[in-house]
Amino acid sequence: MKGLVRKLSEKRSLEAGEYRSLLVCDDDEVIGELHEAARAVARERFGDSIWIRGLLEFTNICCNDCLYCGIRRSNRKIARYTLSKDEVLECCARGYGAGFRTFVLQGGELPDQSDRLIEDICASIRKSFPDCAVTLSLGERQDESYERFFRAGATRYLLRHETRNPDHYAMLHPPEMSLEHRLHCLDRLKEIGYQTGTGFMVGSPFQTYDNIVEDILFIGGFRPEMIGIGPFIPHRNTPLGKYRAGLVDHVPANVVSLTLKLISIFRLMLPDSLIPATTALATLAPGGPDQPGGREMGILAGANVVMPNISPPGVRESYSLYDGKAASGAESGEGLEILEERLSRIGYRISTDRGDWSPREN
Ligand code: SAM
Repeated sequence: MKGLVRKLSEKRSLEAGEYRSLLVCDDDEVIGELHEAARAVARERFGDSIWIRGLLEFTNICCNDCLYCGIRRSNRKIARYTLSKDEVLECCARGYGAGFRTFVLQGGELPDQSDRLIEDICASIRKSFPDCAVTLSLGERQDESYERFFRAGATRYLLRHETRNPDHYAMLHPPEMSLEHRLHCLDRLKEIGYQTGTGFMVGSPFQTYDNIVEDILFIGGFRPEMIGIGPFIPHRNTPLGKYRAGLVDHVPANVVSLTLKLISIFRLMLPDSLIPATTALATLAPGGPDQPGGREMGILAGANVVMPNISPPGVRESYSLYDGKAASGAESGEGLEILEERLSRIGYRISTDRGDWSPREN
């Protein structure tokens, strides 16, 4: 097993069966070695800097009906909203003052008529904050829309593929959605020139270890600049809300430690990639005053990005993707001091650089 960590560090890839062995391995010594190797690679590339991205929950209106997601169109129990351009710019101004130099506009799949608004917001952010990057995470849209947003100044796009297995994809999504289209979108985003992020939920309903291996192989081939992975957490008002969380291959699994293993595996596979310690990870493992939480554990496993919430506090509750989502303290833009303090305890610090993806020769 230890040989696998060494092989992954040296060759940056493993055979499918070897990835699977690492995923199911419960030997603490091997897992510790995996995290240590990944942490060393992240340290070597990024030093003690953790990049912050200001997450703006732009809209919870969604045309899609993903079976796991709390903002799916069929959930009638949430108040729907879309932030206006002025509200977005106000959040950016506050975020800028706090030190954010990347703004991530995330939201549901708005109808195509909203393209003009999105385009206008991208251009306005770039104009008002020319030293900042705009990242979009607005789901599957038409090729032309992606092009328009890019021309307006958005340079990064996050679109998780969610699962690389078509049968598993069909279990998580309604029939009108397809893995094929999602992969098409990812290819287009890359071709257009976006720094592109993808990823998936860990412990999503019906997921198997073989599915996760397929995800790893896909990410190894696609080589995204950003990789977002976080545990699945049920939302009570969704069809999968009653699904027992924390199962992989129908058997209880520690999805926090599985997510951490995956962060380390991806850090070793793609050393330059930008990997956030996600809010879902921090939600499932909040930590305590003297105990590292999911955010810190993610960083110690090789993550190098955190995305505090800078949305207007009044809408945060309505952007409920899953039950109990953390949106305050170190998960929020107002809590940067808490974040700074928690990071310093594990030997890291917030970097206010834009933090663009920048590949190294080796
Ligand atoms: N609509 C866009 C999309 O689908 O890419 C962006 C917004 S979507 C809500 C952002 C991410 O939230 C999804 O990629 C999904 O992985 C995650 N998510 C949704 N429901 C979740 C749940 N129940 N548990 C954990 N993550 C969830």
